[in-house]
Amino acid sequence: MAEEARFRCLRCGSEFTLPYTHGVTEERTCPKCASNSVRRVKDK
Ligand SMILES: [Zn+2]
Repeated sequence: MAEEARFRCLRCGSEFTLPYTHGVTEERTCPKCASNSVRRVKDK
């Protein structure tokens, strides 16, 4: 089941939404700077 999740780039600080499949860990790449230092942002 795919859903949308927010991610933030630790390198350039931009936030973006990417498809996220629960239970699947895959490498994320920032669409702006191509860094793979991307962490998921949890909504509150
Ligand atoms: Zn970035």
